[in-house]
Amino acid sequence: MKPNNILNFIGFDASYEESKIVLFGAPYDGTTSFRPGTRFAPNVMRSDSYGLETYSPYMDLDLEDYKLSDMGDLEFPFGNTNRVMEAIEETTKEILDDKKIPLMIGGEHLVTYPVVKAVFESHPNLHIIHFDAHADLRTDYLGESLSHASVIRRCHDLVGDQKIFQFGIRSGTKEEFEFAKKHLYMEKFNVETVCQIVDSLKDVPVYITIDLDVLDPSIFSGTGTPEPGGITFKELQHAISLLRTLYIVGGDVVELAPQYDTTGVSTATACKVLRELALAIIS
Ligand code: MN
Ligand code: MN
Repeated sequence: MKPNNILNFIGFDASYEESKIVLFGAPYDGTTSFRPGTRFAPNVMRSDSYGLETYSPYMDLDLEDYKLSDMGDLEFPFGNTNRVMEAIEETTKEILDDKKIPLMIGGEHLVTYPVVKAVFESHPNLHIIHFDAHADLRTDYLGESLSHASVIRRCHDLVGDQKIFQFGIRSGTKEEFEFAKKHLYMEKFNVETVCQIVDSLKDVPVYITIDLDVLDPSIFSGTGTPEPGGITFKELQHAISLLRTLYIVGGDVVELAPQYDTTGVSTATACKVLRELALAIIS
């Protein structure tokens, strides 16, 4: 008998074996500094994704024309951040060992770190494109080095200087902005330079991490640390479409906390961002 009515993200209904992209949920929000709730994002996105079409008129591509699978959510020992990190890293390694591309739904942004760690191991020349309202470059948050406020700094520890490209950033400490000037590329407030960056990243492996709070809270209120002054959905969608030509080896969409937007608009937006990102990776 075939399994029935198992909820997957729309269009991600192929078997693991035949798929090129493997989606999984990392419902962890243990280091969230303000309002928690991102642990609920993956399942809410799966159910609400059925309000979307599999076809993207922006890219003229359809999820149904590709083999994509959704392996569900990882199970975590909440309260032990290190073991959560290990679980995500192990899963990512398995996906990479099977020559597939990992695509993750968070969770808070810290879940990106173990994925990048595993991807960096298979692709030592890894570059990272990061959309966010926040720089996430703190050395630590109240003494804790593993935090969603320091996730990109931990990624920098791995990949090194001039490999990280940040867009839409409008919040951080003075130290974070000073660090960015010396060690990586940062476009503050906007995403207009994505085009130039894409041109400079041909032929290198790239990881894409999208912290959805890069969007303005007026259209994306469903997040733990809303930050006014953000970009529009159209700007983000356009930026994602430009990434198509890159050699993308992994990606994620993080920081949706669906319960803070009871209209469901934030979840719909998150689903559409994930669809566009998946199509940019596979095409
Ligand atoms: Mn972030
Ligand atoms: Mn953020």
